[in-house]
Amino acid sequence: RAKRDGRATFRFFTPEMQAQSLRALQLENALRRAMERQQLELHYQPQINIATGQVRCVEALLRWTHPELGRISPAEFIPVAENSGQILQIGEWVLRTALAQLQAWRAQGLDRIKVAVNLSAIQFHQPQLPEMVSRLLAQAGLPPDALELELTEGVAVADPRAAMTTMQQLRARGVHLSMDDFGTGYSSLSQLKHFQLYKLKIDQSFVRDLEHDSNDRAIVSAIIRMAQALGLQTTAEGVETAAQLQFLREQGCDEAQGYHFSPPQAAGQIESFLLQRCV
Ligand code: C2E
Ligand code: MG
Ligand code: MG
Ligand code: MG
Repeated sequence: RAKRDGRATFRFFTPEMQAQSLRALQLENALRRAMERQQLELHYQPQINIATGQVRCVEALLRWTHPELGRISPAEFIPVAENSGQILQIGEWVLRTALAQLQAWRAQGLDRIKVAVNLSAIQFHQPQLPEMVSRLLAQAGLPPDALELELTEGVAVADPRAAMTTMQQLRARGVHLSMDDFGTGYSSLSQLKHFQLYKLKIDQSFVRDLEHDSNDRAIVSAIIRMAQALGLQTTAEGVETAAQLQFLREQGCDEAQGYHFSPPQAAGQIESFLLQRCV
């Protein structure tokens, strides 16, 4: 029976699919050595307070440059790392590295700055996660409110109750939680109020066409008002133009993140921006 299924599968395995899975396999193998060969790096993108122009938090974004394959987007290799289980090791490296950088910045006088780290659903569902986060914070000598963890709506799909318990444990340890890419996933609004969130990040797909699309304007405005009613902070992602920023300001959005202010940059490159913009 297995044989017959195998044959049936093979028949529908198009050349494109074959190329895709070969690429995934190639990336998986290359990723195994990426950390020890120091091919991974974090870039940082500031989140700007729209009312004051100041920065309280930078988001860490993973970058991978392979000597032959070149730059590989996290949108491509994170799913590979999730399927192979490598995301756990990589995710811990990301947390440790981001916290070490944050500690270095605080020691340089940027003493109130925070870092936001993206968490894969697979990391989120690890029972040891809350403990690991506390341990890494302690090792870096940082208070828990120096860290924001960015989750996606997908973390709550399979088991909303378990997800809420994990969020409660993280909150109890003093870490702030953000909902990334808000509006693109499956979280029900009734769940949202139980999620112990600190911040909603409005997905860039709603921000991109704000100037031309009245539906997007309606959606963004509704998200901001709902967040305000629930006592949540709002950060708009992918802000590229002054017109987008102006609309967000009028609607009372708290923060903006995007190329209009700064692309994600290596720690050394973003420093002068932070020194000007941090309180
Ligand atoms: P995300 O967390 O929603 O990150 C925002 C993405 O938007 C980043 O893409 C960022 O470079 C990009 N971006 C920022 N400003 C602008 C803008 O003004 N315009 C446009 N068009 N794009 C902008 P990036 O760095 O390629 O990351 C893609 C995704 O990969 C992230 O989406 C996140 O889901 C994931 N990712 C990145 N780093 C990590 C990580 O360390 N761990 C995990 N689990 N996922 C990560
Ligand atoms: Mg994010
Ligand atoms: Mg996002
Ligand atoms: Mg995203």
